[in-house]
Amino acid sequence: MFVKELRCLRCGHRHRPEDKPYVCEKCGGKIEVQYDYEQIRISRKTLEKRKRGVWKYVELLPVRNPDRAVTLGEGGTPLIKAARLGKKLGLKHLYLKDETRNPTGSFKDRLMTVGVTKVLEFGAKTVVTASSGNAAISLAAYAAKAGLECYTFVPERAPESKLAQISIHGAVVVKVKEKERGDPTYELMIESWKRFGWHPIPSAGAFNPYHWEGIKTLAYEVCEGLKWSCPDWVFVPTGAGTLLSGCAKGFSELKRLGLTKNMPRIVAVQAKGCAPLVRAFRQNIPYERIETWRKPKTVAGGLIDPFPWDADTAIEGIRRSGGDAVAVSDKEILQAEKELAQMEGVFAEPSGAAGVAGLKALIDEGKVDASDTVVVEVTGGGLKDVQTALEISKRPRTISPSIKALSKLIKI
Ligand SMILES: *Cc1c(COP(=O)(O)O)cnc(C)c1O
Repeated sequence: MFVKELRCLRCGHRHRPEDKPYVCEKCGGKIEVQYDYEQIRISRKTLEKRKRGVWKYVELLPVRNPDRAVTLGEGGTPLIKAARLGKKLGLKHLYLKDETRNPTGSFKDRLMTVGVTKVLEFGAKTVVTASSGNAAISLAAYAAKAGLECYTFVPERAPESKLAQISIHGAVVVKVKEKERGDPTYELMIESWKRFGWHPIPSAGAFNPYHWEGIKTLAYEVCEGLKWSCPDWVFVPTGAGTLLSGCAKGFSELKRLGLTKNMPRIVAVQAKGCAPLVRAFRQNIPYERIETWRKPKTVAGGLIDPFPWDADTAIEGIRRSGGDAVAVSDKEILQAEKELAQMEGVFAEPSGAAGVAGLKALIDEGKVDASDTVVVEVTGGGLKDVQTALEISKRPRTISPSIKALSKLIKI
């Protein structure tokens, strides 16, 4: 393991890996894993020879014994050239990073494989998460694989198909009523962690520094997929800002290790009905003064994080990369979901498709050039939210079993 120390991003306090911290023991702040980069020697060739997936980048993950990794075959997802959609948008080099192809259908599996492997190292018996759905689904699956007890706190309005996906893995699903202020699922997770000693593995990095290291592998794969060049732009559907923070760290590590030469511009895409991170970025609001989004409402359930727990690292990542942050409407998100499905054969849930809507917004603002290489992260699969897909698709028609009736239907 090449972990050097765990540094608090708020007060700078340094922890040793043996201290096993989840948050800063001095100030409760978010901590970040720092590696001994000088000691890490990996070449492009070595990496290319390894089996694809999250664990091929093991030197850059914070676990002691990768042989004991709890894995379901996550990562190593395709980077698909989107020629038809690219043409429609006037782009020559548009790619989709298809994260719907992960074991439980979202990029969250990259976090949970690392998170669950790490808590086993700590001797955990019980894990707990707060989630709008996908993180809980993923944790439930990896906890099942590892034989851990799993509690999940989800918002009352999470889609039934997501709840089913959590329950079938044997996790305890607790629906939590909304509150006027605050983020009640997170509050309960924190309290039960303190009270019962359950190990917290939420989707955000603010309460667990290990699991979100897994996200970096998405950035590594994008560059490796482009023959070790960096795209000009990466569009990231954003809730708490964890995915974006992890990608930013991944791209900058590759540069630091000499495997790539530059950084892409990273763009956060939120839904207009819950866009606290975009607001903070655009209005230059410091992390301590970010307010919880009141009454969040959007069809993109995976992007509902009333408080963007990882806005600190996300906004820094956006700024350092010369990126941007945009909010898109539900109508634009649903249009993007249809286009992905109908022009590229990729079935995303609304949250997963939001990146395409964000890309269109920046094209309209004249920021993206036709010759730019653009990667859109398609973060979650459509089968997780079948109800929405039914609502936005044409309803099937019934006919009598005759060619005459068919001809009438298709007007030939
Ligand atoms: C969790 C999630 C996101 C948002 O990720 P954050 O790390 O919270 O910013 C985007 N899309 C899907 C499908 C998700 O499940």
